[in-house]
Amino acid sequence: VATSGDAAATAAISLRGLRKQFGDVAAVDGVDLDIADGEFFSMLGPSGSGKTTVLRLIAGFETATAGTVWLGGTDVTRAAPFERDVHTVFQDYALFPHMSVLDNVAYGLRVRGIGRKDRRGRAEQALDTVRLGQLGGRRPHQLSGGQRQRVALARAIVLEPRVLLLDEPLGALDLKLREQMQVELKQLQRDLGITFVFVTHDQEEALTLSDRIAVFDAGRIQQLGTPREIYETPGSAYVAGFVGTTNLFDAATSQRLLGVRAEHAVRPERLRITPTSAEPTTADEIRLDAVVVETIYLGTGNRVHLRTDDGLELVALEQYTGSLDSAAHRGDAVTVRFARADVVPLAAAP
Ligand code: ATP
Repeated sequence: VATSGDAAATAAISLRGLRKQFGDVAAVDGVDLDIADGEFFSMLGPSGSGKTTVLRLIAGFETATAGTVWLGGTDVTRAAPFERDVHTVFQDYALFPHMSVLDNVAYGLRVRGIGRKDRRGRAEQALDTVRLGQLGGRRPHQLSGGQRQRVALARAIVLEPRVLLLDEPLGALDLKLREQMQVELKQLQRDLGITFVFVTHDQEEALTLSDRIAVFDAGRIQQLGTPREIYETPGSAYVAGFVGTTNLFDAATSQRLLGVRAEHAVRPERLRITPTSAEPTTADEIRLDAVVVETIYLGTGNRVHLRTDDGLELVALEQYTGSLDSAAHRGDAVTVRFARADVVPLAAAP
């Protein structure tokens, strides 16, 4: 077996110089990536940024135009899907409608020639894992969307793949079910020790579930890091804007506020809204006089849109902390404060 002589030899998944061209479109435009064994890894990006194509290249449903795919230290770039120790859970579940839930889960074992008794036991166990042990006798159409989703997961985990590829697996679920399934997915991944590669365009989902996230744009990884790194120190205006809401300061504004001529970002929750006062500015705090444009009630707090006296648009997030001392109302004149340390420099646009 050839190895690339670096991390590709030890990582669960390694991509090297990966490219996929569809006609004029470079769907994947030079991706280098190592995903560790047992990692919950998310690929996050807007529609059309190339996440699904990367997933399909890993699974073997697409053939790379250039570059290599490694699984567990083996170059599988030219291997067929069935020769790869990965399993894919698609958004549309792809269950067999005429089979019972239990038979759906056992199907992959049957294809692999596992005997009837053994596969029944293993399928029942997989259904227990996704807490559907009681529903093995039903048909898919007799289940809710969330239950069907779990059947699709059970069907994947029963095969005990080293790597599970999940393409927007929670996309069809309502918010409540989605949050429940997020917790279940995370626990499942931890308990089974399977490497998860999770495709989503939901930044909150990626932040809450992942060990690491790759943020995609136009077929390339814009930034790779832990949820905390991605959120707190975004490397570009693109990442800062896509992952969460942010206040972006262009070079001229940064020059004026901070004395540094480069793009900066500050998160809404770092802004404090106080009544206008004559309190002196400390060296480590920025204070701006502003007017409240709109206050949006969020349940857990308020999102407040402001315009500073010199025309800068800002968004602040007020969280309820027991006493909401500065309920900002539309038209109020206020002072917005934030620490210099909370303003993150962004890399110059490429
Ligand atoms: P989504 O979140 O909408 O699934 P994505 O980030 O997963 O988007 P891809 O599905 O990987 O993006 O698509 C990346 C680009 O490649 C898009 O411009 C898409 O139109 C194009 N593309 C994907 N598959 C094909 C194909 N089979 N033939 C032609 N173009 C394709």
